[in-house]
Amino acid sequence: MQVCATDGSWRLRTLRAAAGERDGLALVRAMLGLADGSGAGSGSDSGLGGPIALVSSFGAESAVLLDMVATVDPRTPVIFLDTGRLFPETLEHRRELCAHLGLTDVRHVRPDVAALERYDPAGGLAMAEPDLCCHLRKTEPLEQALEGFAAWITGRKRFQGAARGALELLEAEPGTDRVKINPLAHWSLEDLRHYRRLRQLPLHPLVTRGFASIGCAPCTSPTRPGEPPRAGR
Ligand code: SF4
Repeated sequence: MQVCATDGSWRLRTLRAAAGERDGLALVRAMLGLADGSGAGSGSDSGLGGPIALVSSFGAESAVLLDMVATVDPRTPVIFLDTGRLFPETLEHRRELCAHLGLTDVRHVRPDVAALERYDPAGGLAMAEPDLCCHLRKTEPLEQALEGFAAWITGRKRFQGAARGALELLEAEPGTDRVKINPLAHWSLEDLRHYRRLRQLPLHPLVTRGFASIGCAPCTSPTRPGEPPRAGR
């Protein structure tokens, strides 16, 4: 096993060599197969010095990537970041999808209770200081949840725009020795919908109410026709 605590460039090279030009399910299969000769569930460190997790918001189109991971190995660790400000429909969608896909290691990650009591006792931080709110409810819990993982799979896509417009399939995560795997980077919204219909995957209930992208309730609104998918975030 090759070990380097502060530089994940060797991991990126290893994953690139294994991935070729693959994306979608083929990339998920190649990545999880590399993390553990028979899948990722046991967290073996055969080639990467650690296991791979999927981080999922269980949002509007999350079912696609969750289905791909479940198809390869339903024991794959799935990190679900529950900020405490999610829509109840998202929590219901998570329950429905986990049962539908047979995922066995979904980790329900929550913010630190003491930090919330100190900085957001009345629940108004999202409006008053959204950066601090995101730090407490997203950044810190996710960083802790990812400790020990060599790489993580994300559902980010180029069509979501802004900084994601040039997204690569594999990228080094700044400030850590982990690699981020983006199997859907090149997929269009129509690709995702086609896959979901083909696989008959459950639909997030808020999609039919005009939400194209779904995050925390205080910071998400429906999108209008013609707007980019993340306009409501
Ligand atoms: S998206 Fe909004 S509610 Fe969610 S953590 Fe960030 S600021 Fe807070």
